[in-house]
Amino acid sequence: MFRTAIPLGRWAGVVVRAHWSVLVVLLLITDLLASAVLPQAAPGANTTWYWITGGLTAAGFLASLLLHELSHAVVARHHGVEVRRITLWMLGGAAELEGDPPTPKADLRIAVAGPLASLLIGGTALGGAILAAGALPALPVGGLAWLGVSNLLLAVFNLLPGAPLDGGRILRAVIWWRRGDRARAGAIADRSGQVLGAALAMAGFVQLLFLGQFMGLWLVLLGWFLIFAAQAEFTAGPLRERLGTLRVGDIMNASPVVAPGWWTVDAFAEYAARTGRDRVFPVLSFDGVPLGIVSLGDLVKVPADARRATRVIDVARKDREVTVVGVDTEVTALMDRGFPRAGRDLVLVTRAGGLAGVVGADDLARAFELTALDHRPRLAGGPVSKVTTDH
Ligand SMILES: [Zn+2]
Repeated sequence: MFRTAIPLGRWAGVVVRAHWSVLVVLLLITDLLASAVLPQAAPGANTTWYWITGGLTAAGFLASLLLHELSHAVVARHHGVEVRRITLWMLGGAAELEGDPPTPKADLRIAVAGPLASLLIGGTALGGAILAAGALPALPVGGLAWLGVSNLLLAVFNLLPGAPLDGGRILRAVIWWRRGDRARAGAIADRSGQVLGAALAMAGFVQLLFLGQFMGLWLVLLGWFLIFAAQAEFTAGPLRERLGTLRVGDIMNASPVVAPGWWTVDAFAEYAARTGRDRVFPVLSFDGVPLGIVSLGDLVKVPADARRATRVIDVARKDREVTVVGVDTEVTALMDRGFPRAGRDLVLVTRAGGLAGVVGADDLARAFELTALDHRPRLAGGPVSKVTTDH
């Protein structure tokens, strides 16, 4: 979903990035502040100052969004749940956790931390604005007051009881605690998220069509996102339970066609044409070390007259563009890192630094489908890791 994001460095040890849609939000909020909110709060000021204050306040809003997500992240880590990264985007922020909270109590604390941070920021900013009114110029006071109110609204909105909102997580934690069944609790929170999403989208439509208010579009988008995200979680939840401790080594292709990095594009294309039916290949060094991946699509981009002079390794995707996991990695952990695109991506599976196999979109889909059919995918003749017999 967030493939194109701008890295913003590490905050409290967590990788933070921003999707480009954040820029749109920054501009929209600045515009709203400079042309409507601030002129009303502090009439008679210079237009330039409205825009400067608006821009600073919008940046402050993004910073408080980041603090909200960081609060989730810090509490999650405290409970032993690693945080892969935080992504800010058009409709807010998302802290991506590696795995699930161990207990209902941890689940609850991680969920509550975000809205609590927003409430604190909102209260502080609004309190500061009230205290500073009269002592400071009306313009910065207006910006601070807006920041306070918007953070309070953010907290309240996030407490609505539907996944994936924080309120949905709280609902899940409470039901999990009372009934002792995490999967069931998650399903209820997801369903509740869909109902909530539909209600928000409907309210947005009414606002947009009958009241002519443009902000309705925002609610429609938000509602649609909630329905979509809750549905995705609802589907992934039971699957995750069933996948259990299945390892990448169990679902990988252990004998893929490999691309020798030092070959020319032309020589490898000829080899690929008569070997197997693959479209993506692991690229190996002369010593057999996995270096990256290359797809037929990557080779196509090399101009025809350069194919005899260009080496495969020069067009291969390497380092951060490639997912590399060990054979003992759980499939659910791989699932969390995003899905490989068919015909373009390949996950490299390593054992002791060497290539053990590869996992493509089809291998993952096959594993999911077999799991849904109550069968555990297993490599014929391949290395089968500890297979649990839980059903
Ligand atoms: Zn949150």
